[in-house]
Formats: sequence, structure tokens, C-alpha cells
Amino acid sequence: MVLNPVTGAFLDGLRATLPETCFRPIAPRYLSEPRGFYAGQAGCLLLPSSAGEVALILRHCNAARVGVVPYGGGTGLVGGQVMPKGAPAPVVLSLERLDSIEKPDLQDNTLVVGAGAILADVQAVAAAAARLFPLSLASEGSCRIGGNLASNAGGVQVLRYGNARALCLGLEAVLPEGRIWQGLKRLRKDNTGYDLRDLLIGSEGTLGVITRAVLRLFPQPEQHLTAFLQIRDPRAAIDLLARCQARFGGLVSAFELIDRTGFEFLQETLPSLRRPFAAPGKWMVLLEIGAGTDFPAQTVLESVLEAAFDAGLMHDAVIAQSEAQREAFWAVRERIPEANRLIGAISSHDISVPLGQLPEMIRKGAGVVARFGDLRVNCFGHVGDGNLHYNVYPPKGAHRADFSHLRDDIKRAIHDLVDTLGGSFSAEHGIGRLKRDDLSRYGDPAKLAAMRAIKTALDPNGIMNPGVIFAPS
Ligand SMILES: Cc1cc2nc3c(=O)[nH]c(=O)nc-3n(C[C@H](O)[C@H](O)[C@H](O)COP(=O)(O)OP(=O)(O)OC[C@H]3O[C@@H](n4cnc5c(N)ncnc54)[C@H](O)[C@@H]3O)c2cc1C
Repeated sequence: MVLNPVTGAFLDGLRATLPETCFRPIAPRYLSEPRGFYAGQAGCLLLPSSAGEVALILRHCNAARVGVVPYGGGTGLVGGQVMPKGAPAPVVLSLERLDSIEKPDLQDNTLVVGAGAILADVQAVAAAAARLFPLSLASEGSCRIGGNLASNAGGVQVLRYGNARALCLGLEAVLPEGRIWQGLKRLRKDNTGYDLRDLLIGSEGTLGVITRAVLRLFPQPEQHLTAFLQIRDPRAAIDLLARCQARFGGLVSAFELIDRTGFEFLQETLPSLRRPFAAPGKWMVLLEIGAGTDFPAQTVLESVLEAAFDAGLMHDAVIAQSEAQREAFWAVRERIPEANRLIGAISSHDISVPLGQLPEMIRKGAGVVARFGDLRVNCFGHVGDGNLHYNVYPPKGAHRADFSHLRDDIKRAIHDLVDTLGGSFSAEHGIGRLKRDDLSRYGDPAKLAAMRAIKTALDPNGIMNPGVIFAPS
């Protein structure tokens, strides 16, 4: 599909139909992404304020065959929100002005929000109504609901509440040819053929632009019990998770595995951050239970931990005694990505494997990385979901640039291992531009053919986020 760049004549046509407030100078943040792998380009930056304006833009782009890059909070980790030079300069379409958050519906337990609403603001509105919107990511102060849905974000509470797809009941979206799909339903059951909502969620801006969403809310747990544990090894983490789930049922809301390397990176880069253990062991778990006040959570947790001590699964535990301590525990987990960024990974992998294969992944992964030299691995993540952020770093004191020649080979070796264990090379970050070669390598051919057919049917001119998920044709 041959696309055209944004030209003066194209902009004149847009100016004839859109208010001047939609046109903004292109600030550098719209052309960069957190990992610094890609520098973007833009023919123009547009900030529409309604689905109607988005529809006008897409109609115009479709007629002129100009590419469109939807932009939420810009925190995506696979380069989906930036288009590097090499393709015709696209329209960058930021949804940030569609940031409305309606009053929560407390009977339905739903909340209607614009695609540009910041995740932390959505959580706050839900909390003010004594409800929980459980999507929770370290980037929640910047990422926006449209981006969360387009990338089907995960985060730390998927174990209990599911990922972004599971938290969305309905969508309003603009399809590539400029038609507005009014799918803002609040239904938990709607079995009426192909599910456009589920198709758009996770489509990373390649099938249309999400403009509004109906989100699911949950009762706010009356008490949280948060514990940092030092455990024997990754297999012990899985045993412990099973014990917790047996005793707490669905009340386990987070179960995060943390490697001592994560603590060392925090010490190296953010030394003032309070850490729960002076002498951390090799493996730790951050566990959270959310329950009603009537449930004897503390007693049950103590008995689970006692039995786990006796079984040799763990050797130390600290239970948060106050909200401030709970926040301090979470700050440790949530600032690991920042510490990682400051250290600078040679190669990062967002992988998932069947839960039972997780220890094998960690064991064999260490062997795979050792083949490339004396490198450091920081492996942490949402172990309850079988999802690890398996990141490889240079030795202490060295710089990642000196190892960049190894990046592709390391990535390939880790993803090959994940594939043999029946896992996925992208657990929660999506494909974007970074992982499209992996998709063509590891993806099922029938699935890829169906995906291409869907893309062509909905976006025949290929204007939506060209180069994301599939290489530009
Ligand atoms: C510190 C840090 C921690 C993170 N932790 C997690 C984590 O735990 N779990 C996780 O899943 N992710 C995590 N991420 C990745 C990222 O925050 C999520 O992918 C987030 O959902 C992206 O939202 P965004 O608004 O920033 O989207 P953007 O980065 O702006 O865009 C992401 C993709 O969605 C498309 N898009 C954006 N808005 C729309 C729209 N309205 N309609 C259609 N397409 C659109 C873009 O074109 C792009 O392809 C983390 C990132 C950082 C920097």
C-alpha cells in the first residue's frame, strides 16, 4: 500500500473542516518513546476534542492515503506510538483532549471515560466513589485509557481482575474509513456475533481509534494485607501462590516475583528508596490480599506463612503494618522499571510461560544468557500470571552500547527458549514495531493470515499505524 506524506494541500483541506484548536506544534515528547529505540516523525500533530473530529480526520487521511499514528500517553514499550523516518510523514493523532470521566454508575459498577483520561485519574474517580478500577501499572500517572485498551495492558492485579480487555464492557471507536462505531454498551453479556470490542482492544491503533470506553468497577477492598517474603526459589513461589489461593480464594490480588538484582539496581540508582530487607536473598515475593473487614486475613496469612516456613518454601517475611509501609513496599516494586532504565538493558523481554514452566524458564534462561558472557539478568514480574520481565544487562560498570551487537542474538535465544516452553514472546506489552519480526517468526500461520485479512477488510488503504504489528506492505 503506497501512502503519502502530509503536505501543505492536505493540511489546507483539514483546516477547512477542523477548528484551529486541533492543530498544535509538534513537541519532542510526541516523537520519543521510553526505551529510546525509536525517534519518531510527524507531518503534523492533531488534538481532536470529540469522536466527530476524529472521524473527520480519519476520513480525510483515508481519502488522501496519509498514515495515522494514534498517541495516548506515550508510555508504550514496543514503539507503537512513534513512526520512525523511512515512511511518509504521518499524522500524529493525540487523544489527550478526550479526557472526560463521567460520574460512576454505582448500580452497574461502570464508569464511562474518554480515551484521553489518564489511568491514575480514572482510579481516583473510582476510589472517590468507594469503587476500585483495578488496572495498575507503574506508568499510571502518564498512560491513558485509550492506550491501555489499544495495548491491552496488564499490570500487577491481572491475577485477580484480568487485563485491560477484561475490564472493558463497551467502546466507542472511529474505524479507518471514518465511521463511528457506537459500542458504548454496559452489558456483561452480549453474544451478538463477532466481537468488535475485543478486536479493537489490543489492536495497537492498527484497526481504528478508540475514543471512549465503558470500564468495569469493583468493590474497594476494605483491608489490604501486603507482605514482602524471602523465598527459597521460583518453584517455591509457585507453591506458595497455590497455598495462598487455596486459603484466600480469589482474594489474592497481586503476587510479584522480584530478583535480588532488582534490589541491587535500586541500590545503585535510587539509593534513598527504603527497602524492606537489609540483606535480601536471591528471590522475593511481594504479595497482596484485598478483603472485606470481616475476613480474618491477617490470621489466615500468618498461618499460610507459618506452614510455608515449615515446608522450607521461605525464610523471612515482613507484613506491612500501615498504609505508609504498604506504599513503601509497592514503591520498591514500581520503581524497578526506572532503575532498569537507568542501568540500561542490552535486551528486554516481556515473556509468559505456563506457570509450571516458570522455574525451568528461569533456570534455562540463565544458561542461555551465560553463553553471551558475564551479563546480569534482572528477572521480575507478575509471576501469578506466568509473566516475567526477563531483562539482560551489561556487567557492573560497563555500558549497554558496548554490547548492542549481542542484542538480536540474545533476544532470539531467549524467545526461542520461551517458544519451546509453550510461552509467548509478548505477555503484556504488545507487538508494536519492536516485536513484529518475532510475530512473523513465532506466530501461528493461520492466525497471521486471519489477522492480515481483518486488517485489509477494516483498513483497505493501510492508513492506521503503518508498520505496527505487520511490516508496511
Ligand atoms: C515505567 C513503565 C511501566 C510499565 N508497566 C507496564 C505493565 O506493568 N503492564 C503493561 O501492560 N504495560 C506496562 N507499561 C507499558 C505502557 O505503560 C502500557 O502499554 C500502556 O497501556 C500504554 O498506554 P499509553 O496511553 O501510554 O499508550 P501509547 O504509548 O501512547 O500507545 C500505545 C499503543 O496504543 C496505540 N493507541 C494509543 N491510544 C490509542 C487510541 N485511543 N486508539 C487506538 N490506538 C491507540 C498507539 O498507537 C500505540 O500503538 C509500562 C511502561 C512504563 C514506561
